[in-house]
Amino acid sequence: MTDSPTRVPAAPKIGFVSLGCPKALTDSELILTQLRAEGYETSRTFAGADLVIVNTCGFIDDAVKESLDTIGEALAENGKVVVTGCLGAKAGSDGANLVRQMHPSVLAVTGPHATQEVMDAVHVHVPKPHDPFVDLVPPQGVKLTPKHYAYLKISEGCNHRCTFCIIPSMRGDLVSRPVGEVLAEAQRLFESGVKELLVISQDTSAYGVDLKYRTGFWDGKPVRTRMTELCEQLAALAERHGAWVRLHYVYPYPHVDEILPLMARGGVLPYLDVPFQHSHPEVLRRMKRPASGEKNLERLQRWREACPELVVRSTFIAGFPGETEAEFEHLLDFMREAQIDRAGCFAYSPVEGAAANALPDMLPPELREERRARFMAVAEQVSADRLRRRVGATMQVLVDHAPALGRQGGVGRSYADAPEIDGRVRLLAPEKASRTLKVGEFTRARIVAAEGHDLVALPV
Ligand code: SF4
Repeated sequence: MTDSPTRVPAAPKIGFVSLGCPKALTDSELILTQLRAEGYETSRTFAGADLVIVNTCGFIDDAVKESLDTIGEALAENGKVVVTGCLGAKAGSDGANLVRQMHPSVLAVTGPHATQEVMDAVHVHVPKPHDPFVDLVPPQGVKLTPKHYAYLKISEGCNHRCTFCIIPSMRGDLVSRPVGEVLAEAQRLFESGVKELLVISQDTSAYGVDLKYRTGFWDGKPVRTRMTELCEQLAALAERHGAWVRLHYVYPYPHVDEILPLMARGGVLPYLDVPFQHSHPEVLRRMKRPASGEKNLERLQRWREACPELVVRSTFIAGFPGETEAEFEHLLDFMREAQIDRAGCFAYSPVEGAAANALPDMLPPELREERRARFMAVAEQVSADRLRRRVGATMQVLVDHAPALGRQGGVGRSYADAPEIDGRVRLLAPEKASRTLKVGEFTRARIVAAEGHDLVALPV
């Protein structure tokens, strides 16, 4: 009698849906990395999975609906569902957990950044495979973004209490990650080939406040847990790897001035994502915005003097409760004077649980929408004028897409374009047949035209 061949049992498969913002994506990456490390596989379909994890978003009502619908679909097609993310931390009308109220049959519900709790739930319902293929996990983990750019989350939560926002009630107060840990992750990402690192948090300029800017250690040297020092170290790392560092969600506090010289030298991209939300001091006060007392026009002017290349992206809210026509026009004037390169605008929309819902003088939805459209008309004009000034210049472009080695051209971004939210640079076919373009590599390109939010450029 011969021994029958040992059968390797098929690895259990986990379906995964990641909804929500880039911050939620990094949570998804941590969970997927852990799943892979333990030998689970992922399934592209709900039906083909042994269990489904849904990473939800709870920020605005549309996102809540999308998340609840996705959970419903996963339950219908699979039946075994674990829910994580911002919506998982939200209470329903009865004060109990909203997800459980709407979908009582889910197996487990956790809030955001709860990798271990999610893994515990997975282990209960789909036991760990016997032999984890640990070696299959790259040391930098599993990333959901294309290989050449990655998000680096430096903190969680927020100490502010903006009246339109429920993030602090879901994610709690600011908790900064230790500076050595953040820099070690940045180094791993650069070593794995990342060419653009996007620094994210709820409030990047507040990094380290909760730790009283304590001194941590990196590479055998003391480094303070503070935005300026973090940026200096990131700039040095990025330079060694020929990569970009881009900052998101920076509030205009005075100490932000300190990083402008670093931007002018090119260590960190001269790009600032500053969520102003409004310009009028009274509206900002009703919004309880951080840095609302700052003189933002003067500050922007000083920043541009220190770093003429600076590109500013921002978001705004039109039609906030009580916004008068005069306050709204103040915002339009601000937009024209501040020359914000890239602006997004939401018509105010009440979010369940937000303090702003109790403010008097809620504007009718049509007026909020009309103001949003008026704002965007001004913003697009400013943006188009600023883009047109780039025609004729030569810029460094990071290639995102280049089929057939870019012989027919491709798509990339300059320092002025963050992935997914800003414009793009459409790359024409290089003139020389031998010249190729590769995804994740930089190319110099001459700007030949501006088209809407995008530029058209010829690789040189
Ligand atoms: S700064 Fe304001 S809008 Fe941003 S997360 Fe904190 S509370 Fe919300």
